[in-house]
Amino acid sequence: MTPEELRVKNRAYYLAHTERVRADSRAWRLAHPDKYRAMQKAWRKDHPELVRQNNRAYRLAHLEKLRAYGLAWRLAHPEHPREWRHAHPAQVSAHDAKKRARKRDAFVERVDRMRVFQQHKGICGICRRKITARQKWHVDHVFPLARGGTHTYDNAQPAHDKCNLSKGAKIPKGQPTLFQVKAS
Ligand SMILES: [Zn+2]
Repeated sequence: MTPEELRVKNRAYYLAHTERVRADSRAWRLAHPDKYRAMQKAWRKDHPELVRQNNRAYRLAHLEKLRAYGLAWRLAHPEHPREWRHAHPAQVSAHDAKKRARKRDAFVERVDRMRVFQQHKGICGICRRKITARQKWHVDHVFPLARGGTHTYDNAQPAHDKCNLSKGAKIPKGQPTLFQVKAS
């Protein structure tokens, strides 16, 4: 029997004994849940396009239900940032506008890297050690931009890459270490 003939025969048997075939396969699934799950997983892996189609069809057929689920989940997880954003559109847009304005104001001045270096006599503002020619360094913001600091000479200091990365977005303790040189 060729595979095609077998398929036709199976199909005919299925159509003639639909209820029994279904009951049998259900019994088999219940008796072998792990095997069934593995088979399903293998099938999904072999048929990604069909899986996508099925998921899409399911979503389209259950839009209302899924929307209600999504809403219920968001209400149950108000602490989740993305859900919080969904639930508070007005606050989010005000917050985003502020953030954009801060970014705009923070970059009004062109800060020259070498000028920052010279103003600080090549001393790292974080570890206070000299930056040697072989060491990598950044222009560091004494008060981080994320905390309202500006991208200006009076908020800039050279810092070793390593020192800068370990500082993150923390506000420095005590007085800023920079020389208070205003950009002219
Ligand atoms: Zn350093």
